[in-house]
Amino acid sequence: MARFALALITGLALFGVAGLQQPAGTGHAGKAFRFNKVKEGVYHAVGTGALTVVGNSSIIVNDNDVIVVDDHVSPAAAWVLLDELKAITNKPVRTVINTHFHYDHAHGNQVFGPDVEIIGHEFTREMLIGGKSLQMPLYKNYRDGLPAQIENLKKRVAAEPDAARKAALQTQLQAAESNKESQEELKPTPPNVTLQTRMTLHRGDREIQIRFLGRAHTAGDVVVYLPKEKVVITGDMLTSGLSNMSDAFVNEWPGTLDELKKLDFDTVLPGHGDAFTDKAKIEYFQAYLRDVWTEVSRLKQQGVSAEDAAKRADLTKHKDHFPNNIQGPGIPPIAATRIYEVIDTAGRR
Ligand SMILES: [Zn+2]
Repeated sequence: MARFALALITGLALFGVAGLQQPAGTGHAGKAFRFNKVKEGVYHAVGTGALTVVGNSSIIVNDNDVIVVDDHVSPAAAWVLLDELKAITNKPVRTVINTHFHYDHAHGNQVFGPDVEIIGHEFTREMLIGGKSLQMPLYKNYRDGLPAQIENLKKRVAAEPDAARKAALQTQLQAAESNKESQEELKPTPPNVTLQTRMTLHRGDREIQIRFLGRAHTAGDVVVYLPKEKVVITGDMLTSGLSNMSDAFVNEWPGTLDELKKLDFDTVLPGHGDAFTDKAKIEYFQAYLRDVWTEVSRLKQQGVSAEDAAKRADLTKHKDHFPNNIQGPGIPPIAATRIYEVIDTAGRR
């Protein structure tokens, strides 16, 4: 189908979302999200690849309203989420919860009107207000990499002889171009309701706890815990693989996960990857975090630069538990730099 026809169909489908102005970059073909039903009224929203969304969101449908936990990488992604949500409920979204400030979890905030409460940790507000989140290496690396990603996809589309593979690459290219367009309209929008340690929402029979359990993936991660449904929504404090460490307190993270283990739940809805029930994953991740901290600290003590420590840190003994993340020695440079920074900051106190 021609590009303009797709854009027209998408535009018509999106017309009238909550009376708000439609952001740029919402064009895509096919559904952008899969809503995986986890419990009655609880869904894990995972991107299909038709649109760039990066992180997962979770949806809680209550008697009279809807809560969205995390709102993806761009205003466009959040807008399309709201549109596709109509397939599972016609109730209004009145509350958004940001598990943390990272771009792939909170950069959809701006599409929600002033009547929507956006809840997050005080630190999350601090990072999103005044564009601070845009200055962090994690986001800068991401945004700076978009033009090269698009150029690379264009070359691959042109060179691909197989029609089906060419069409799949074309979809990826369209998603990347739409994402870049939406990033240009980005105005990081902070939570308008903040907490330090705990907040509970009551919606009919449902209890929704928002808990800060300690520093971990960032200084302000919250988990959303539904005690009756035994579900916990963990953002990036606990994902299905290894979580990014760019803003982490790797030394404190295992202890925070110990606090998480004290909650009574049977299902984890992570910020990346599929929902899971195997609690052993928490132990595996704690073991990895303890070892990466010890290994990088040891290299630092030997006078190795952060750059070399990133190449040399050997965590391969964890590769059976994290096959998608660990293929050989080495860790992401951003992780080594961050661990060095945390050690140096602690040393100055
Ligand atoms: Zn994150």
